[in-house]
Amino acid sequence: MARFSFVVLAAAISALPGIAFAQVSAAQEQQLLHDVVAQVRPERMRQDIEMMVSFGTRHTLSDTVSDIRGIGAARRWVAHEFQTISSTCGGCLEIVTPSDTVTGARVPTPTEVVNVVAIQRGTGDPNRVIIISGHLDSRVTDVMNFTADAPGANDDASGVAAVLEAARVLSQHQFEATLVYAALSGEEQGLLGGKILADYAQAQGWRVEANLNNDIVGNSEGQSGVRDTTRVRVFSEGTKTVETEAQEERRRYNGGEVDSSSRNLARFIDGIADRYLTNFDVEMIYRTDRYGRGGDQVEMLRHGFPAVRISEGAENYDRQHQDLRIEGGVHYGDTIEGVDFDYLGQVARLNIATMVALGNAPATPLGVTIEGAVRADTTVKWQAVPGAAGYRVWWRSTTAPQWTHSRWAGNATEIVLPGVVIDDYFFGVSSVSADGYESPVVFPGPAGSFVSVGDPAPRTAQ
Ligand SMILES: [Zn+2]
Repeated sequence: MARFSFVVLAAAISALPGIAFAQVSAAQEQQLLHDVVAQVRPERMRQDIEMMVSFGTRHTLSDTVSDIRGIGAARRWVAHEFQTISSTCGGCLEIVTPSDTVTGARVPTPTEVVNVVAIQRGTGDPNRVIIISGHLDSRVTDVMNFTADAPGANDDASGVAAVLEAARVLSQHQFEATLVYAALSGEEQGLLGGKILADYAQAQGWRVEANLNNDIVGNSEGQSGVRDTTRVRVFSEGTKTVETEAQEERRRYNGGEVDSSSRNLARFIDGIADRYLTNFDVEMIYRTDRYGRGGDQVEMLRHGFPAVRISEGAENYDRQHQDLRIEGGVHYGDTIEGVDFDYLGQVARLNIATMVALGNAPATPLGVTIEGAVRADTTVKWQAVPGAAGYRVWWRSTTAPQWTHSRWAGNATEIVLPGVVIDDYFFGVSSVSADGYESPVVFPGPAGSFVSVGDPAPRTAQ
């Protein structure tokens, strides 16, 4: 009898067009994610940081001509590293150097600010883009001091090392989406490199689905002496920087203040850590950045791109933005002794696994809407996206931090959830590929959409 049922079930499933049995489970465990996590080598990142520190200072206003000192030498070295990596994958990386000549509050004379960016084109949907970034420039106590030694080992050679390690590991594989590895400049002078990257992405017509901005990711011993090797913070804005007044009004009434695309990207990263990393967890922080401070992801958010800031769990401020000195027995300055390479390795693993998961997933669903006021059921609708074999509808209590309930919708574009009252939950939809990669969950309407411009989602349920 049991055998007979199995045969009938299998026959029924195989008769469904485009739906294989495996797709019924969301975010199927992927061996590739375990493989890439195992390929991360903290020792390579140590060599990267030693090299970046060796340029003395990487201040944005520093020497650009010397081959051994200053930001120019540092960015040429990064470009050379990308070329070396590309030579191991048949030239799979295209290296570009988007730049702008900037004058500003922290840039007294016109200065060329140059990012070094490697692009690994996707094989399925190359216009969909996943970006990992860190900033190459460094500083000491006086932000205008461009001559003193500013090793910037942790802020942010650690982030650039994670970018390079991601390129080394991921260039050995192919992905549906395009992966971009970005070493930015001008962060300390006013997030200049972040703006140049965001402008470049916009000019290229990229649909940036995620920017993972790694800034200060290599220290595991906090200012207070607390040592934390098991936790990394992922900062995400709750509501979109680009939200219009009309969108804000609707969102304030119906909810969505903790469900921007960036926030659901952070939830996605948290899920990756839980499933693929050991002794390492994501602490989601419901803020755009650390209190009163900023990072390059802010410029991506201003362009409407989903972005998070990744930073170590416990910062040591004696090691950030400090002249190298000993005062009262305390060592100040951002030297390489402050970097915990095993910890940095864990952060790199988190980034790399996340990029694989996003890069192989279908695009996030578009046009997500919900309806069901004064009814016992909730209807969730969305539009089909390329590469999706099916969709999973998620919901959670309005006070829950993570998505808790879900239902497989197959390759439909709407589902009715019987007995689920719309008032009592937040809803979302993910897309799932034929081989079980699942996109982040998309909250309905402009508040949650991953597409900043031209999202066809109507503002109200129709
Ligand atoms: Zn920084």
